[in-house]
Amino acid sequence: MTKRDYYEVLGVDKNASPEEIKKAYRKLARQYHPDVNTGDKDTAEKFKEVKEAYDVLSDSQKRSQYDQFGHAATEGFAGGDHGFGDFGFGDFEDIFESFFGGGFRPRRSGGPQRGSDLRYDVIISFEEAAFGKTLNVEIPRMEKCSKCQGSGAEPGSSQETCPQCKGSGEIRYSQSTAFGRFINVKACDRCRGEGTITPDPCTECRGQGRIKQTKEIEVKIPAGVEHGSRLRVSGEGESGVKGGPPGDLYVIISVRPHEVFKRRGDDVYCEVPISFVKAALGGELTVPTLDGQAKIKIPEGTQTDTYFRLKAKGVHRLRGMGRGDQHIKVVVQVPQKLNTKQKELLREFAHESGEDMSKIDEKSIFGKFKNAFGGSKG
Ligand SMILES: [Zn+2]
Ligand SMILES: [Zn+2]
Repeated sequence: MTKRDYYEVLGVDKNASPEEIKKAYRKLARQYHPDVNTGDKDTAEKFKEVKEAYDVLSDSQKRSQYDQFGHAATEGFAGGDHGFGDFGFGDFEDIFESFFGGGFRPRRSGGPQRGSDLRYDVIISFEEAAFGKTLNVEIPRMEKCSKCQGSGAEPGSSQETCPQCKGSGEIRYSQSTAFGRFINVKACDRCRGEGTITPDPCTECRGQGRIKQTKEIEVKIPAGVEHGSRLRVSGEGESGVKGGPPGDLYVIISVRPHEVFKRRGDDVYCEVPISFVKAALGGELTVPTLDGQAKIKIPEGTQTDTYFRLKAKGVHRLRGMGRGDQHIKVVVQVPQKLNTKQKELLREFAHESGEDMSKIDEKSIFGKFKNAFGGSKG
């Protein structure tokens, strides 16, 4: 259904003042009001049309959008689909604003504006954090419209001097108050203070000069990043408005915890179980590292919770050269299921050590505790 021009509906000039619009609306409303014309379908429709035109033209923001984009703009007010997925662009901005504290929203007035910053969350593995990774991420963002080269005007058409403010971008109006008359100056609402309007907006971007596009961007995650790191990719945010610079892209990195390794600074920690026989006799122990398996030598008589260090097997240093170390804690395992033969051998071992299994030497154990407490009273 084609719609009549709102100015035409109200029978006013495109440059009509708010007062003129109000006057025209009042006159038509009286003429077509349903209370006056009971049952007349045609006038009821007319009244609806008049009301709709007035709703838009009496609101300076809606009016200037209507001037630029025609009826397409008013469809937008009603929550029409902008093709940005489930949320409107306003919501998208708000997400970033709440995260970055609101300092990034571009100014609303005319002239060049820096593009918005964008946030991208990524989850990487422990190893990817340790060694770095190059990621290709898909970022939905506002890009300069290729049809109009960002001007917002349909190719072949051009910007025109704003008829409302004659290009000054300002509107002067006098106001009568109890204290006298005042001359006020405000930004022209027709051209939003720019002095020019786009009478023939680009059909691709609806005169915005930018359109939402998904862009693949290569993001190099440096070796050694930590959970919660924020990477700034300069100039990869949304494109600017009217020649303004683009915003930045912030990549927020989450590192998945590892099943085996824990990280403290550039060093990596892990626990490796070891049999009590190997702990007693010493020998080679295979341990996991970020680079695969490695072997360490365990000396005879190794106690549980002893740490061993593998130099330069930790995480790459984010700032500086080389890598941190890996610390391996060996945990001696006491066997839980022994067969008869094993038990016999252990008893024999105890006997050989002079240990009487029927009489645990409690005296010597408590003697040791006394020493540990420094000979406490009583
Ligand atoms: Zn365009
Ligand atoms: Zn203007």
